[in-house]
Amino acid sequence: MAGLYLHIPFCKQKCNYCDFHFSISLRNKEALIHAIKKELILRKNEVNEPIQTIYLGGGTPSILTITELKGIFESINANYSIAENAEISLEANPDDLSESYLKGLKKLGINRLSIGVQSFFNADLKFMNRAHTSQEAIRAIKDAQDSGIENITIDLIYGIPGLSLANWQRNLDAFLTLNIPHLSSYALTVEPKTVLAHQINSKKIKPLDDELAKAHFDILLRYMKEYDYLHYELSNFAKEGFLSQHNTSYWQGKSYLGIGPSAHSYNQKTRSWNVANNARYIKSLKEGIVPNKVEYLTAAMRYNEYIMTGLRTMWGIDLDTIKKDFGEKYSSYFTKNAQKYLQKGTLQFVEKNRLVLRSEKFFLVDGVIADLFWVE
Ligand code: SF4
Repeated sequence: MAGLYLHIPFCKQKCNYCDFHFSISLRNKEALIHAIKKELILRKNEVNEPIQTIYLGGGTPSILTITELKGIFESINANYSIAENAEISLEANPDDLSESYLKGLKKLGINRLSIGVQSFFNADLKFMNRAHTSQEAIRAIKDAQDSGIENITIDLIYGIPGLSLANWQRNLDAFLTLNIPHLSSYALTVEPKTVLAHQINSKKIKPLDDELAKAHFDILLRYMKEYDYLHYELSNFAKEGFLSQHNTSYWQGKSYLGIGPSAHSYNQKTRSWNVANNARYIKSLKEGIVPNKVEYLTAAMRYNEYIMTGLRTMWGIDLDTIKKDFGEKYSSYFTKNAQKYLQKGTLQFVEKNRLVLRSEKFFLVDGVIADLFWVE
């Protein structure tokens, strides 16, 4: 078992682009924490080895008090064996990170912080309806560093309408000045049923500009290369020794257990997902039932998953793994369909049998993946 994920489904306010599962009403917070603890107990037998990584994501885990987090960690420790030196990450929003809160997190054993900065420009933050300001983000990062948590990552979003190339560079300059060892940087995307989708559909704002996002991405790659950040996944860059172990495990197909509403789990043979509804999650756990759906993974599903995650990472696709894990049928299908990308130089061999997508072609990854997918 590689990892344990806990989904904390509450946020202060709704960011306009977000389609994650969360509620802005904290009415059910206590009952939800109770249900999470119950799920931790009910599923402890699904894990039969020490947990290497714990990740609290959301939603906004930093919306929980230190006392509430302490209660959750007590449940984890009482029911699971945690590896020594496990990576324990928590997603936090800058406006939650006071000095005393950071001290409390450190005491709980949190050793990696993922801070949702998104932009160092207040105009962008306002556009996205984020709850913090740029000044709060800078203060939170510095306080986190002073608290002794060295392993820090921030998120930055590019492709935001009106974000000029010069200002995107200023965002990256601000990141570099703060001496942060890891960056997750995503293109703004329009997910259905979000406020952003509504703003575009009702013509309040123009559709997103792919060319702008591509130009931002090219600048991002140039900066990260120049300042020695390893581009280890499509949207992730790290200094040596600071790769996210939890997310790397996902991308390398290791098993994980997901606790909380909407959380997914994976154990090589099945994938399951919990109901994405706080009230139904609480009710079901009260009755002692984990409210999830389970899907058995066919060879085609596992092959597609391997292609999708492999091509997004610097580890790429191993031809021997395809042959060994999925068989000759998938191996020859992949080899045949990969040819045109090899000829164009989009894919390249880095070892005899290992293929990767060239870093500067990462922007095309979805099209390449679609072409290499097995369709039944
Ligand atoms: S804080 Fe994160 S999870 Fe909450 S609405 Fe904003 S982007 Fe979504």
